[in-house]
Amino acid sequence: MFSGSDASTVAAADSVAVIGLGRFGRALALELMANGTEVLGVDLDESIVQELNGHLTHVVAADSTREEVLQQLAVPEFDRVVVAIGSDIQASILTTSLLLRFNVAHVWAKAVSDAHGTILEQLGVSHVIYPEKEMGRRVAHLVRGSMQDYLEIGDGFSLVKMAPPIAIIGKTLGESRVRATAGVTITAVRPHGGAWTYTDQDTLIAADDTILVSGPTNKAEAFSLRR
Ligand code: ATP
Repeated sequence: MFSGSDASTVAAADSVAVIGLGRFGRALALELMANGTEVLGVDLDESIVQELNGHLTHVVAADSTREEVLQQLAVPEFDRVVVAIGSDIQASILTTSLLLRFNVAHVWAKAVSDAHGTILEQLGVSHVIYPEKEMGRRVAHLVRGSMQDYLEIGDGFSLVKMAPPIAIIGKTLGESRVRATAGVTITAVRPHGGAWTYTDQDTLIAADDTILVSGPTNKAEAFSLRR
Protein backbone atom coordinates (compact mmCIF):
# COMPACT_ATOMS: atom_id res chain seq x y z
CA MET A 1 0.00 0.00 0.00
CA PHE A 2 1.51 3.30 -1.05
CA SER A 3 0.52 6.19 1.15
CA GLY A 4 0.59 9.61 -0.47
CA SER A 5 0.25 11.11 2.99
CA ASP A 6 -0.31 9.95 6.54
CA ALA A 7 -3.82 8.54 6.75
CA SER A 8 -3.76 7.48 10.39
CA THR A 9 -5.68 10.45 11.80
CA VAL A 10 -8.20 11.03 9.08
CA ALA A 11 -11.61 10.07 10.36
CA ALA A 12 -12.88 13.32 11.86
CA ALA A 13 -16.65 13.53 12.23
CA ASP A 14 -17.06 15.98 9.38
CA SER A 15 -14.68 14.26 6.97
CA VAL A 16 -15.54 12.14 3.96
CA ALA A 17 -13.79 9.14 2.40
CA VAL A 18 -13.91 8.98 -1.40
CA ILE A 19 -13.03 5.59 -2.89
CA GLY A 20 -12.17 5.66 -6.58
CA LEU A 21 -10.63 8.85 -7.89
CA GLY A 22 -11.62 8.73 -11.56
CA ARG A 23 -13.21 11.82 -13.15
CA PHE A 24 -16.28 11.67 -10.91
CA GLY A 25 -14.56 10.78 -7.62
CA ARG A 26 -11.83 13.32 -8.19
CA ALA A 27 -14.23 16.17 -8.98
CA LEU A 28 -16.29 15.28 -5.92
CA ALA A 29 -13.26 15.06 -3.63
CA LEU A 30 -11.81 18.39 -4.84
CA GLU A 31 -15.19 20.13 -4.45
CA LEU A 32 -15.49 18.82 -0.88
CA MET A 33 -11.98 20.16 -0.17
CA ALA A 34 -12.85 23.53 -1.72
CA ASN A 35 -15.76 23.78 0.68
CA GLY A 36 -13.67 22.98 3.76
CA THR A 37 -14.38 19.26 4.23
CA GLU A 38 -11.47 16.94 5.02
CA VAL A 39 -11.17 14.15 2.47
CA LEU A 40 -9.49 10.77 2.49
CA GLY A 41 -9.09 9.67 -1.13
CA VAL A 42 -8.38 6.03 -2.03
CA ASP A 43 -7.49 4.65 -5.44
CA LEU A 44 -5.73 1.56 -6.76
CA ASP A 45 -3.78 3.61 -9.26
CA GLU A 46 -0.59 5.04 -7.81
CA SER A 47 -0.21 7.66 -10.54
CA ILE A 48 -3.62 9.11 -9.64
CA VAL A 49 -2.62 9.16 -5.97
CA GLN A 50 0.65 10.95 -6.81
CA GLU A 51 -1.27 13.48 -8.88
CA LEU A 52 -3.72 14.25 -6.07
CA ASN A 53 -1.15 14.24 -3.29
CA GLY A 54 -1.30 17.66 -1.62
CA HIS A 55 -4.76 18.41 -3.04
CA LEU A 56 -6.69 16.14 -0.66
CA THR A 57 -6.23 15.89 3.11
CA HIS A 58 -4.96 12.33 2.68
CA VAL A 59 -4.67 10.22 -0.42
CA VAL A 60 -3.71 6.57 -0.45
CA ALA A 61 -3.06 3.94 -3.10
CA ALA A 62 -4.91 0.85 -1.94
CA ASP A 63 -7.38 -1.84 -2.98
CA SER A 64 -10.71 -1.02 -1.36
CA THR A 65 -12.05 -4.55 -1.86
CA ARG A 66 -9.73 -5.78 0.91
CA GLU A 67 -11.26 -5.55 4.35
CA GLU A 68 -7.93 -5.26 6.19
CA VAL A 69 -6.96 -2.31 3.96
CA LEU A 70 -10.14 -0.41 4.81
CA GLN A 71 -9.63 -1.20 8.51
CA GLN A 72 -6.05 0.05 8.33
CA LEU A 73 -7.25 3.31 6.79
CA ALA A 74 -9.86 3.71 9.57
CA VAL A 75 -12.61 3.80 6.92
CA PRO A 76 -15.14 2.15 9.34
CA GLU A 77 -14.86 5.28 11.51
CA PHE A 78 -16.14 7.56 8.77
CA ASP A 79 -19.78 8.67 8.86
CA ARG A 80 -19.81 9.34 5.14
CA VAL A 81 -18.13 7.32 2.41
CA VAL A 82 -18.56 7.68 -1.34
CA VAL A 83 -17.80 4.71 -3.60
CA ALA A 84 -16.97 6.29 -6.95
CA ILE A 85 -15.85 3.10 -8.68
CA GLY A 86 -17.95 2.52 -11.79
CA SER A 87 -16.70 0.28 -14.54
CA ASP A 88 -15.32 -2.40 -12.21
CA ILE A 89 -18.75 -3.41 -10.90
CA GLN A 90 -17.33 -6.26 -8.85
CA ALA A 91 -14.98 -3.87 -7.01
CA SER A 92 -17.84 -1.42 -6.50
CA ILE A 93 -20.07 -4.13 -4.97
CA LEU A 94 -17.36 -5.69 -2.81
CA THR A 95 -16.29 -2.30 -1.45
CA THR A 96 -19.86 -1.23 -0.79
CA SER A 97 -20.69 -4.52 0.99
CA LEU A 98 -17.71 -4.02 3.31
CA LEU A 99 -18.82 -0.47 4.14
CA LEU A 100 -22.33 -1.69 4.94
CA ARG A 101 -20.88 -4.45 7.11
CA PHE A 102 -18.88 -1.77 8.96
CA ASN A 103 -22.19 0.07 9.55
CA VAL A 104 -20.94 3.27 7.92
CA ALA A 105 -23.91 5.60 8.45
CA HIS A 106 -24.06 7.21 5.00
CA VAL A 107 -22.80 5.24 2.03
CA TRP A 108 -23.06 6.91 -1.38
CA ALA A 109 -22.29 4.78 -4.40
CA LYS A 110 -21.99 5.57 -8.08
CA ALA A 111 -23.87 3.29 -10.49
CA VAL A 112 -22.98 3.00 -14.17
CA SER A 113 -26.17 1.20 -15.18
CA ASP A 114 -29.67 0.53 -13.88
CA ALA A 115 -28.69 -3.08 -13.08
CA HIS A 116 -25.67 -1.89 -11.10
CA GLY A 117 -27.87 0.63 -9.26
CA THR A 118 -30.48 -2.03 -8.46
CA ILE A 119 -27.83 -4.29 -6.93
CA LEU A 120 -26.47 -1.41 -4.84
CA GLU A 121 -29.99 -0.56 -3.65
CA GLN A 122 -30.68 -4.20 -2.80
CA LEU A 123 -27.47 -4.32 -0.77
CA GLY A 124 -28.88 -1.45 1.29
CA VAL A 125 -27.07 1.61 -0.11
CA SER A 126 -29.20 4.62 0.77
CA HIS A 127 -27.75 6.98 -1.84
CA VAL A 128 -27.21 5.55 -5.31
CA ILE A 129 -25.95 8.14 -7.80
CA TYR A 130 -26.25 7.84 -11.58
CA PRO A 131 -23.98 10.69 -12.75
CA GLU A 132 -24.35 10.21 -16.52
CA LYS A 133 -28.10 9.60 -16.40
CA GLU A 134 -28.77 12.46 -13.99
CA MET A 135 -26.59 14.90 -15.94
CA GLY A 136 -28.25 13.83 -19.20
CA ARG A 137 -31.72 14.52 -17.79
CA ARG A 138 -30.57 17.84 -16.36
CA VAL A 139 -29.06 19.00 -19.64
CA ALA A 140 -32.23 17.91 -21.49
CA HIS A 141 -34.24 20.33 -19.35
CA LEU A 142 -31.72 23.10 -19.97
CA VAL A 143 -31.70 22.47 -23.73
CA ARG A 144 -35.49 22.33 -24.01
CA GLY A 145 -36.38 25.51 -22.17
CA SER A 146 -35.02 28.89 -21.34
CA MET A 147 -33.68 27.72 -18.00
CA GLN A 148 -30.26 29.01 -17.02
CA ASP A 149 -29.88 26.28 -14.44
CA TYR A 150 -31.98 23.43 -13.17
CA LEU A 151 -31.89 21.14 -10.16
CA GLU A 152 -34.36 18.34 -9.58
CA ILE A 153 -34.71 18.04 -5.81
CA GLY A 154 -36.47 14.67 -6.09
CA ASP A 155 -40.06 13.41 -6.14
CA GLY A 156 -40.84 15.59 -9.14
CA PHE A 157 -39.91 18.89 -7.48
CA SER A 158 -37.34 21.28 -8.97
CA LEU A 159 -35.49 24.55 -8.58
CA VAL A 160 -35.01 26.58 -11.75
CA LYS A 161 -32.89 29.67 -12.43
CA MET A 162 -34.28 31.67 -15.34
CA ALA A 163 -35.06 35.07 -16.87
CA PRO A 164 -38.56 36.28 -15.95
CA PRO A 165 -41.38 35.61 -18.44
CA ILE A 166 -42.63 38.84 -20.09
CA ALA A 167 -46.04 38.54 -18.42
CA ILE A 168 -44.61 39.19 -14.94
CA ILE A 169 -42.18 42.00 -15.83
CA GLY A 170 -43.07 45.35 -14.28
CA LYS A 171 -45.42 43.71 -11.77
CA THR A 172 -45.02 42.84 -8.13
CA LEU A 173 -45.34 39.18 -7.18
CA GLY A 174 -48.58 40.11 -5.41
CA GLU A 175 -49.95 41.36 -8.75
CA SER A 176 -48.73 38.53 -10.97
CA ARG A 177 -49.94 35.75 -8.60
CA VAL A 178 -47.70 33.11 -10.19
CA ARG A 179 -48.34 30.57 -7.45
CA ALA A 180 -52.06 30.67 -8.16
CA THR A 181 -51.79 30.90 -11.95
CA ALA A 182 -48.68 28.82 -12.74
CA GLY A 183 -48.36 26.58 -9.66
CA VAL A 184 -44.78 27.71 -8.93
CA THR A 185 -43.16 30.04 -6.42
CA ILE A 186 -40.55 32.69 -7.16
CA THR A 187 -38.35 32.27 -4.11
CA ALA A 188 -35.48 34.64 -4.87
CA VAL A 189 -34.54 37.35 -7.32
CA ARG A 190 -31.25 38.81 -8.46
CA PRO A 191 -31.21 42.24 -10.10
CA HIS A 192 -28.72 42.65 -12.96
CA GLY A 193 -25.26 42.95 -11.39
CA GLY A 194 -26.74 42.61 -7.90
CA ALA A 195 -27.08 39.92 -5.26
CA TRP A 196 -29.78 37.32 -4.64
CA THR A 197 -32.52 38.37 -2.22
CA TYR A 198 -35.62 36.59 -0.97
CA THR A 199 -38.89 37.73 -2.46
CA ASP A 200 -42.14 38.90 -0.90
CA GLN A 201 -45.48 40.12 -2.22
CA ASP A 202 -44.00 43.57 -2.95
CA THR A 203 -40.99 42.37 -4.96
CA LEU A 204 -41.10 44.10 -8.35
CA ILE A 205 -39.74 42.04 -11.24
CA ALA A 206 -37.59 43.84 -13.83
CA ALA A 207 -36.72 42.63 -17.34
CA ASP A 208 -33.05 42.09 -16.57
CA ASP A 209 -33.66 40.26 -13.27
CA THR A 210 -32.79 36.62 -12.80
CA ILE A 211 -35.34 34.65 -10.81
CA LEU A 212 -35.22 31.40 -8.85
CA VAL A 213 -38.38 29.38 -9.24
CA SER A 214 -39.39 26.32 -7.22
CA GLY A 215 -42.24 23.96 -7.92
CA PRO A 216 -43.28 20.67 -9.50
CA THR A 217 -40.88 19.94 -12.38
CA ASN A 218 -43.56 20.00 -15.10
CA LYS A 219 -44.95 23.33 -13.87
CA ALA A 220 -41.51 24.90 -13.40
CA GLU A 221 -40.56 23.80 -16.90
CA ALA A 222 -43.81 25.13 -18.39
CA PHE A 223 -43.21 28.43 -16.58
CA SER A 224 -39.69 28.68 -18.04
CA LEU A 225 -41.12 28.21 -21.55
CA ARG A 226 -43.53 31.17 -21.18
CA ARG A 227 -42.36 34.25 -23.01
P1 ATP B 1 -15.12 8.12 -14.04
O1 ATP B 1 -16.21 8.24 -15.04
O2 ATP B 1 -15.42 8.78 -12.74
O3 ATP B 1 -13.75 8.43 -14.56
P2 ATP B 1 -15.02 5.37 -14.50
O4 ATP B 1 -16.27 4.57 -14.28
O5 ATP B 1 -14.62 5.63 -15.90
O6 ATP B 1 -15.11 6.63 -13.61
P3 ATP B 1 -13.72 3.49 -13.03
O7 ATP B 1 -13.00 2.49 -13.85
O8 ATP B 1 -14.99 3.13 -12.46
O9 ATP B 1 -13.80 4.76 -13.84
O10 ATP B 1 -12.77 3.86 -11.84
C1 ATP B 1 -12.82 4.97 -11.06
C2 ATP B 1 -11.56 4.88 -10.22
O11 ATP B 1 -11.70 3.82 -9.25
C3 ATP B 1 -10.31 4.57 -11.02
O12 ATP B 1 -9.36 5.60 -10.81
C4 ATP B 1 -9.83 3.22 -10.48
O13 ATP B 1 -8.42 3.14 -10.39
C5 ATP B 1 -10.46 3.18 -9.10
N1 ATP B 1 -10.65 1.82 -8.62
C6 ATP B 1 -11.16 0.77 -9.31
N2 ATP B 1 -11.15 -0.35 -8.53
C7 ATP B 1 -10.66 0.02 -7.33
C8 ATP B 1 -10.38 -0.67 -6.09
N3 ATP B 1 -10.63 -1.96 -5.97
N4 ATP B 1 -9.85 0.05 -5.07
C9 ATP B 1 -9.59 1.36 -5.21
N5 ATP B 1 -9.81 2.06 -6.33
C10 ATP B 1 -10.33 1.41 -7.38
